[in-house]
Amino acid sequence: MCAHKSCGIAEKVWHPYGIAGVKNGVKPHSYCIRCGTIKRISSSSNRPKTIGYYINALTEILKTPSEKKRVTKVQMRLIVKELEAMDDFCDMYWVTKSAQDGMFISVVQKYCKITEGFVKSFL
Ligand SMILES: [Zn+2]
Repeated sequence: MCAHKSCGIAEKVWHPYGIAGVKNGVKPHSYCIRCGTIKRISSSSNRPKTIGYYINALTEILKTPSEKKRVTKVQMRLIVKELEAMDDFCDMYWVTKSAQDGMFISVVQKYCKITEGFVKSFL
């Protein structure tokens, strides 16, 4: 996976952009000088989070008394490991928070019997 490095401000490229799938004309976008990936512009509420954000959410779930039996530290480690291995999840250039949330929920549910709504309440 590429450790993206952004181009300078002067080298930004004009590229179509949209919010929540609605086209909004063109805007200058940064791109990666190593692989050429264009950085997505997201609304502030949909900007990707680092994996630390999701580890915190897992820690909070673990602290919830009613869920203690369902989410163990071993499961938590497996979940984090799986998330770290997902290129899409960690690609801060391209992923959106809503896409990350979806991936996070499906991985959590793979290891733990908890509902989507419950996981979402921590995000
Ligand atoms: Zn790159």
